[in-house]
Amino acid sequence: MVSRDALGPVPESRRRFLEQMLKAGVATALAPALVRAAATAESAGDLHLATFRCDVTPPAGHSLCGGWIKPAAAVDDPLEAIGLVLLGAGAPIVICAVDWTGLLNDAHLDWRSALAAAAGTVPDRVAVHCVHQHNAPLVCPEAARLVAEQRDLPAVYDRDFHRRCLDAVQAAVVAALPRARPVTAVAQGKARIDGVASNRRVARDAAGRIAVMRGSSCKDPALAALPEGLVDPWLRTVAFYSGTEKIAACHYYATHPMSYYGDGRVSSDFCGLARKRRQAEEPGCTQLYFTGCAGNIAAGKYNDGTPAARGRLTERIYGGLVAAAATLRPAPLRKIEWRTAAVELPPNPALGPGALRELMDPRREPAPALRMRPAFKLALLDRCARRVPFALSALHLDGVALLHLPAEPFVEYQLFAQEVRPGRDVAVAAYGDGGPWYLPTRAEYPAGGYEVDFAFCAPEAEALLRGAIAGLLG
Ligand SMILES: [Zn+2]
Repeated sequence: MVSRDALGPVPESRRRFLEQMLKAGVATALAPALVRAAATAESAGDLHLATFRCDVTPPAGHSLCGGWIKPAAAVDDPLEAIGLVLLGAGAPIVICAVDWTGLLNDAHLDWRSALAAAAGTVPDRVAVHCVHQHNAPLVCPEAARLVAEQRDLPAVYDRDFHRRCLDAVQAAVVAALPRARPVTAVAQGKARIDGVASNRRVARDAAGRIAVMRGSSCKDPALAALPEGLVDPWLRTVAFYSGTEKIAACHYYATHPMSYYGDGRVSSDFCGLARKRRQAEEPGCTQLYFTGCAGNIAAGKYNDGTPAARGRLTERIYGGLVAAAATLRPAPLRKIEWRTAAVELPPNPALGPGALRELMDPRREPAPALRMRPAFKLALLDRCARRVPFALSALHLDGVALLHLPAEPFVEYQLFAQEVRPGRDVAVAAYGDGGPWYLPTRAEYPAGGYEVDFAFCAPEAEALLRGAIAGLLG
């Protein structure tokens, strides 16, 4: 139990404690086990919740999507980092959603460490997830270092801007803690959404290999007419109450969130726009939106990439948020449990460092975008060589479970998480640490396609992830 007066600015003694915990985390990363699990359960009797938000809109000229699309030229609507801190059930727990494309490797740890220091907890009790919009920043320090070795390439991101965002989110947490309110009830609801999520991998040849990808937008009527394919059509909401007042609502839905991008116009896109509309309607309730396991899911079947389509998709997500809210039945909260699993994922054997460095050579490959992407693969190889595990976690609120996963898992992982708890819903946030890019299922590697080309981890990752998910939820 954390005493209430322990909150506020981080004192020197706690800073030292946090540093020791961080060092301990690094030390255990070197342990031989591929999966390490831990759990703490507490009574929810003194649970308090504080919410925070800050602006993370990039300045004009900042790279978007890591630098291989047009940089920021205008802002259609601002990007935000929005989160909540749970106090009074062991060390504080922090959950945060960021309107960025991705936070990869050390950048993800930077965010978890910064939020932990501000909230007075350890990075293991912090979950940070990107919504994965594409006219938005993508941050990977190691890839940025490799790309910066070649002067003609654009920067992956701006370090000073990133530092300012970390400072802003820390200040937002410190300011939020004194405003924490008691949590008296929790509710879970859901609504089916039609006409948004569709599978990207439906066009296959006779051998089952991916012939062409149905992307996040699709102007080919024949491709759009193919079946929706495997999706999870449910938008899930988990809400926190203080007395009769709903004070925070976390929403989860599995689709790539892009309607169109690449025009330099920064936007939280259709999922963020729906969230903002709901926020305006419910100003007293902080709305958080998380993208689920959407590695092979996008709006392509229902999206021709026009502004009108963005409007329609926004309307459908918004409709889901409203419909899910109508199913919420708050019940008193008795027990809260935080479980973690640190998983080392093996790199894809198809990635050879020598060949990747050659692909970055301008004499061999003139297209800047194609010279930048190998840097992200090299960053993952470097991370695996350092044996830095991926942090998975689950928050159990009596019968409600929130699952936090890395990168871009295929929707099959989310459906598996539901199977682990038959009869009970699991709200899944993916796009945590984005280091591995796509996480296909093992069976999908031989089928190839874009997602497999950009799957930085080996097919064996599936068994490790399934084992960790079962441990977190079982
Ligand atoms: Zn993606």
